[in-house]
Amino acid sequence: MTRQRQLIYNIIQAAPEHRTAEEIYDLARAEMPSLARGTVYRNLGVLVRDRRIRKLEMADAPARYDRERRPHPHLVCERCGKVEDLVMPEGLLDPLTADLSVTGYDLKLYHLCSDCRG
Ligand SMILES: [Zn+2]
Ligand SMILES: [Zn+2]
Repeated sequence: MTRQRQLIYNIIQAAPEHRTAEEIYDLARAEMPSLARGTVYRNLGVLVRDRRIRKLEMADAPARYDRERRPHPHLVCERCGKVEDLVMPEGLLDPLTADLSVTGYDLKLYHLCSDCRG
């Protein structure tokens, strides 16, 4: 991995936040001021393609990047857009998907996060 790609990868691995490319760019530039925006976007694409991170497509909002690569459900705040992992009991979907040859899923539940509720 190049130094730039390692830095971007480390930023994503360091926290459970599901950050946008712009947020990752800001954090990366704090460490490597010469880093170009295009380099960040290109390296995020390579990391997703190599399955080191996961890209979460969002409706009407920039995509977010996830360090957890296994499929898992997300909680999305309708107001501020914050994305959190939703812990779901193992096997919960099995009765629904048993005969469907499911290869993966993308499940989002929308709510108001604790900050926005207050
Ligand atoms: Zn919120
Ligand atoms: Zn996640």
